[in-house]
Amino acid sequence: MKIALICAMEEELAEILENVPLKLSSEVSIAKNCYTRYSYNHHEIIAVICGIGKVNAAITTQALIDNFELDAVINVGVAGSLTLELGFGDVVIAEDLVQHDFDITAFGVPLGQIARMDTFSFAADRELIQLLATISLPDNKLVTGRIVSGDQFIDDKVKAQQLYREFNALACEMEGAAVAHVCYVNNVPFAVIRSLSDMAGQDGEAIHTFNDLKYMASQRAALVVRNLLERIN
Ligand code: SAH
Repeated sequence: MKIALICAMEEELAEILENVPLKLSSEVSIAKNCYTRYSYNHHEIIAVICGIGKVNAAITTQALIDNFELDAVINVGVAGSLTLELGFGDVVIAEDLVQHDFDITAFGVPLGQIARMDTFSFAADRELIQLLATISLPDNKLVTGRIVSGDQFIDDKVKAQQLYREFNALACEMEGAAVAHVCYVNNVPFAVIRSLSDMAGQDGEAIHTFNDLKYMASQRAALVVRNLLERIN
């Protein structure tokens, strides 16, 4: 298969390169991002750091789809937890994603609904979710559920609780739903794998745990990628 791995931050991709034995093949630069080709068993992998936020994620996902004839796009990285049931390093596999900061509620439309779009949430690929759900980690939980994305670092207990209640989402981050949106309109299968670096402000300042734990969480997400690549046909 030809699979893209898209991370927002270099810390996230660094853990994948550390933990998954990818063989470097070539590099190409498009719109200020470096797309690196690797091989892994019979798979071809294209890895890229897209930068933080939904626009960066959307630009990069479209460039991936336009230039690499992909079978699937996998967004990998860290996220804030929206529930005290999940802790640092636990992994959320997105069943579907919503852009929590898309707000046309003034028109009587639910928060997160993209104007004039035929879906509320962007559903990840069923087969990939099923494969990912069979993975177990030595020290952490792996669960499936909704992830919400927005151009905000969530570091506030009230906001985190609102997102949990409004969307019934398990984790928040800043890119996944944009990757999902672009894959949806291009009809390309995708998955989002996020490990929890912080509690989004539910237990003191998220920024501190994010800074300390983003490496550990990125490593957990990378272990899930390694398991997935071992299992995928
Ligand atoms: N200046 C910081 C910004 C990090 S933004 C830096 O460059 O390191 C946080 C990143 O981690 C985003 O890519 C987002 O997807 C993810 N993330 C982790 N915890 C988050 C939270 N609580 N809210 C939103 N995004 C979070």
